[in-house]
Amino acid sequence: MAHYKDERTLVIIKPDGLQRSLVGEIIKRYEQLGLKLVGVKMVVPTEEHIEKHYTIDPEWRRITGEKTIKGYKDKGLTPPSEDPFEVTAKILRGLMKYMTSGPVIAMVWQGAHAIELVRKITGGTEPLKSDVGTIRGDYVLDSYQMSDSDGRSVRNLVHASGSKDEAEKEIKHWFSKEELINYRLIQEQILYDVNLDGLLE
Ligand code: GDP
Ligand code: MG
Repeated sequence: MAHYKDERTLVIIKPDGLQRSLVGEIIKRYEQLGLKLVGVKMVVPTEEHIEKHYTIDPEWRRITGEKTIKGYKDKGLTPPSEDPFEVTAKILRGLMKYMTSGPVIAMVWQGAHAIELVRKITGGTEPLKSDVGTIRGDYVLDSYQMSDSDGRSVRNLVHASGSKDEAEKEIKHWFSKEELINYRLIQEQILYDVNLDGLLE
């Protein structure tokens, strides 16, 4: 059975993350947590690749549409449509434009609770509401209201897999087996070894 330390998640530094010169800062956050970088590359994604990325979960269109409609109503606003699939179609068009506008950095990070911890330090989807101390909370100032009124995707610097199932599918979508490196990081000893033998001389 796989150990906790074998959990992997996909992170993408989106075009705005690169353009804002935040690549080092973003990588530093995941690195300092104790996660291990097992795959990394710079690519300019195609529209097809991005569409597949977001629709990899067959439920994503419905869930995102419903969540977005609820978001509008909670704020006392009228959603652009009552049909979740129509709402998502618009979001997806924006994402395809945003995510193909320039190079992105795709990465796979490995470690105990990698999926949940990466989401935690990445922060909530909408930068206006993301917690202070998170990447999306500290380094960008976008909101759904502004991005919707300007007819574009919300710019939130990073994508991170949301669940085990998503992580597994997304990693396969972005990386071939050969592009992921199995190796030992010396610090894993202090993070995971049961007995800390050999520290004292
Ligand atoms: P993530 O996993 O935190 O990136 O968020 P989701 O998977 O729920 O959504 C993916 C993308 O869809 C986000 O990065 C946004 O661009 C867009 N999105 C999600 N929810 C909303 C919303 O309520 N309004 C708008 N305008 N876009 C949204
Ligand atoms: Mg998501």
